[in-house]
Amino acid sequence: MYIFQRVADLQSFLEEQGKSIGFVPTMGALHQGHISLIERSKQQNELTVCSIFVNPLQFNDPKDLEKYPRPVAADIEKLAAAACDVLFLPDVEEMYPQGTQHREHYDFGFTGITLEAEFRPGHFDGVAQVVKRLLDIVRPHRLYMGLKDFQQVLIVEQMMEQHRIQVELVKCDTLREADGLAMSSRNMRLSPEARALAPRIYNVLQQAAAALNGEESIENICAAAKKTLEQDGAFRVDYFEGVSPKTLQPLHGVVPAGTQVLWIVAAFLDGVRLIDNLLSTQQ
Ligand code: AMP
Repeated sequence: MYIFQRVADLQSFLEEQGKSIGFVPTMGALHQGHISLIERSKQQNELTVCSIFVNPLQFNDPKDLEKYPRPVAADIEKLAAAACDVLFLPDVEEMYPQGTQHREHYDFGFTGITLEAEFRPGHFDGVAQVVKRLLDIVRPHRLYMGLKDFQQVLIVEQMMEQHRIQVELVKCDTLREADGLAMSSRNMRLSPEARALAPRIYNVLQQAAAALNGEESIENICAAAKKTLEQDGAFRVDYFEGVSPKTLQPLHGVVPAGTQVLWIVAAFLDGVRLIDNLLSTQQ
């Protein structure tokens, strides 16, 4: 695997190769979920580039940025084992030569103000800015992103439309642990006790999907889900909603047959903020 820290070195290597490029941007602390994106890219492209960059612009909480795990040596081993072709590992100066004070501001309509955006002000501007910069650097044919970060995928799709970036966005399913917990770099910060409770998030999502076909209203399903998560004080829920997967607008009442509902949740457990979602259809 080739590792580049400088934009110019990466670009001259990619130009020399002249191959189709699949790109997987990450913040490192890699797990099997990330590796599944690498594998998908390897099936569809001649060259797979992964980036690891903990992007300061998308952290609204400085403590979260500081605590974000950075096991670079282990990450390099995992990427090499997955036969990733290229790792781009820039530092902050390389990514933001004008400094981190320079911030882009985007208008993503409702998608840019709801759910994660409401609880993490500025987060998606930071995401859009870093993905734009990375796409300008790597110039891939395909971009691989995980649907675990559902709203992020919609934001990146809109950002690419706004900048007329014609890269194919490949949306990849969420990989889960055997007990249903969505794989996440943040899971390693959970205490053993909290880790044992964490699958409750996926259980509650599945219960919501099942209740949809029991003619329950969206409001009742969400209220029950929050109650279950918060019982015995384990989780502190930022949101649990049933929304349209296209617009993220909240759905109401008993929805008509054929309606797709995205159940989407963010909750703190043991000081760690976890997110997840599940798509279901009213029968
Ligand atoms: P991150 O390093 O958390 O920024 O994630 C990098 C990419 O991996 C994003 O596109 C995520 O959506 C994706 N990803 C994270 N967790 C998972 C997972 N459990 N399954 C599939 N993709 C994931």
